[in-house]
Amino acid sequence: MHEWSLALSVVQTVDRWAREHNAEVKRVVLSVPVVSQLDLSILREAFDMLKMDSRLEKATLDVKVRSPRYRCRACGYVFGHEEVSSQIEALVGKYGEEYPLHLVPELLPAFVKCPRCGSHDIEADLAIQVEEIETI
Ligand SMILES: [Zn+2]
Repeated sequence: MHEWSLALSVVQTVDRWAREHNAEVKRVVLSVPVVSQLDLSILREAFDMLKMDSRLEKATLDVKVRSPRYRCRACGYVFGHEEVSSQIEALVGKYGEEYPLHLVPELLPAFVKCPRCGSHDIEADLAIQVEEIETI
């Protein structure tokens, strides 16, 4: 249950921050890459359960799904998700539901090749980040 562990780490991290700043949290904005395959309804449900008895008790969760950027370590080319989405779709077609990215989106750069030079040495910003915390 990836969503529950994610929600737990968000609640714990933001709660610690709020205690240090003596603040009550009204809204948390989370930024997730489009490839993360999170079930957002489960994530919200987990957040709403786990926020009880914390400084986030009245907080709402907003999730922004972003399109990741990639950078080729071989030639330095920076490109967007749209340039490799056909590669990813081909991969999904080949593996079906069991394709490995479904379980480990961090593997994605290893399956993508640079549209300019063909290198597989790709880095991507696939981190799930707390982008904004609004307090009361
Ligand atoms: Zn390249």
